[in-house]
Amino acid sequence: MKQNDKRVIDRFIELALVDGESFNERMVADYLVAEFQKLGIKLCEDDTAGKIGGNCGNLYGFAEGRGKYADSEPILFCAHMDTVAPGNNKKIILNDDGTITSDHTTVLGADDRVGIAGIIEAYTEVLEEELDHPPIEFLFTVAEEVYGLGSAALDYSKIRSRIAFAPDCSGEYGVYSSCEPTLISFEVHIKGKASHAGYEPEKGINAIAVAAAAISRIKQGWADDHTTLNIGTIEGGSVTNAVPENCLIKGEIRSGVHEDAYQTMEYVESVFSEEAKSAGAELCIDKKERITVYRKDPEARAGSALDRYKRALGKQGRETLAKKSYGGSDINSLIKHGMDGLNIYGPMYNIHTTEEYTTVQEIVSFAELLKILMVLDWTE
Ligand SMILES: [Zn+2]
Repeated sequence: MKQNDKRVIDRFIELALVDGESFNERMVADYLVAEFQKLGIKLCEDDTAGKIGGNCGNLYGFAEGRGKYADSEPILFCAHMDTVAPGNNKKIILNDDGTITSDHTTVLGADDRVGIAGIIEAYTEVLEEELDHPPIEFLFTVAEEVYGLGSAALDYSKIRSRIAFAPDCSGEYGVYSSCEPTLISFEVHIKGKASHAGYEPEKGINAIAVAAAAISRIKQGWADDHTTLNIGTIEGGSVTNAVPENCLIKGEIRSGVHEDAYQTMEYVESVFSEEAKSAGAELCIDKKERITVYRKDPEARAGSALDRYKRALGKQGRETLAKKSYGGSDINSLIKHGMDGLNIYGPMYNIHTTEEYTTVQEIVSFAELLKILMVLDWTE
């Protein structure tokens, strides 16, 4: 194995071993601040920790451009520091077949530590080889796995780039996320009236019954061919001998069409309010738009993020592969703030499971891909 190839693999493993579930990214941030200092970059932390209740904020760093690209427009590379649970005390196994896994008691955390490792390696090589490059911004976010809370809380006024790449898309080599939905999460609080269940049940208003009546009327799953609706949790009542006063229902809606997400939300609200009204219960619905839809035009404009990605992959003899996502990522926030962001391939499979894996070979090619993106002259 070449020295740089070994270096990026070691880097990935080192990073994967650092605990950093969402809201607890502190140790990952400390690692990155120290490592970027060695590369001459000061990473600054923002005030997102306080805003979202985590122990760490987003990290931002800036590298001056060099040589003939010194005055080109800057580009931004973004990766998230957090992992999903179970993500602490990992054991990383480099298998004989070239795959890298955990011991299957935790996630591997290739999502998105492989993105971070690739960005560091790519920039290190750009420096070592003294390659000309445009100004580069680095953004390492927190709580991406929780509706992208970190990138949503970022102060975008300090971002100079229009073009952004976030290697956070799982799938075959060359994938990118061509669209991501609007996601609305909601909580329905039903307040009925308690009474003794055996003595005077007629005086109570059963909050669970109201919930059941409403939920049985609501079509879950596909609301239409691009919108899903799910009621995920329900809790209510406290004892069996009282008519339950409270019931709390939590759910979410995702749609490839922004307006349809809201229309579906209205439908849910109307059904719950009809049932609450007819039973005489009180109703309170909290809803929150967690991420906002985007759709990438496959006909990439020259110089756009997708065009650059296509060209960079072309230099590796590869092609782009559009992939619909139903999740959302930091890129949703970046696009919402006017940037031309692209959620690009990162070598990670079976993400968010204890069977997550990556491969040595792909990490090596992926780091090279990022390096190409950093120094690419898209006008050529
Ligand atoms: Zn991710």
